[in-house]
Amino acid sequence: HVLHLDILSLFPEAIEPYLSSSVLARAKRTGTVDICVTNFRDFSEDRHKTVDDYPFGGGAGMLLKAPPLFAAVDHVRALRNLEYAPRVIMMTPQGRTFNQAVARELKKERHLIFLCGHYEGFDDRVRQHLATDELSIGDFVLTGGELAALVVVDAVVRLMPGVLGNEESPKQDSHENGMLEYPQYTRPRKFREWEVPEVLLSGHHENIEAWRRREALANTCRNRPDLFMKLPLDERERSEIVR
Ligand code: SAM
Repeated sequence: HVLHLDILSLFPEAIEPYLSSSVLARAKRTGTVDICVTNFRDFSEDRHKTVDDYPFGGGAGMLLKAPPLFAAVDHVRALRNLEYAPRVIMMTPQGRTFNQAVARELKKERHLIFLCGHYEGFDDRVRQHLATDELSIGDFVLTGGELAALVVVDAVVRLMPGVLGNEESPKQDSHENGMLEYPQYTRPRKFREWEVPEVLLSGHHENIEAWRRREALANTCRNRPDLFMKLPLDERERSEIVR
């Protein structure tokens, strides 16, 4: 199926170059995804195309007004004319944290609409009555939702069938099976005094698989003990790695 993506932003020029490069450009060209960037400033109803205003109750900074965002979402829905209800994803540091499992969930949808905030964020009625999801890309604060939406779009699109050359490759990636990937090497066999691990040159498939699993577990234990603790390992395997 085709995945339709709409990104609503005040700064389309910050988004478009990424969509026209590499894997995302190819996914668009081959028709796996259809991505459209819309400036919701065009949906402001006043003469000066205002999209932000002071927060009621005082406080620093400006907030994005609700009406242009509601109008822009209506507009992209009407343009797409899809029978599927879209997921309307508000990018916010207050959202549920994005990860590979969420990427897999979103890839099954037909239409995703991303709302990129700016300044101090959104009038809360956008969250309450327009968004179906609130997503954060991590516990830090960016100036705008553009990079955050691109992070999600990129991670979702690369999971679509046919986007990566080799269908197998996403399955081996870090976070696909709860652990980090094993180390990999390419030519030359010897670089300075550092040689590629012998087992990888052996052609012995079973030994290579066993080595990769051990190394993947060791990587996970070293860098992400939180993930390691959740892996369903038997005690023997766990203690071999931890040792
Ligand atoms: N005042 C807001 C708060 O404390 O929750 C932060 C606003 S931030 C400066 C401006 C916009 O950047 C947000 O509306 C959101 O769209 C985006 N943004 C910032 N950090 C983000 C994150 N970690 N994940 C997703 N979007 C983020």
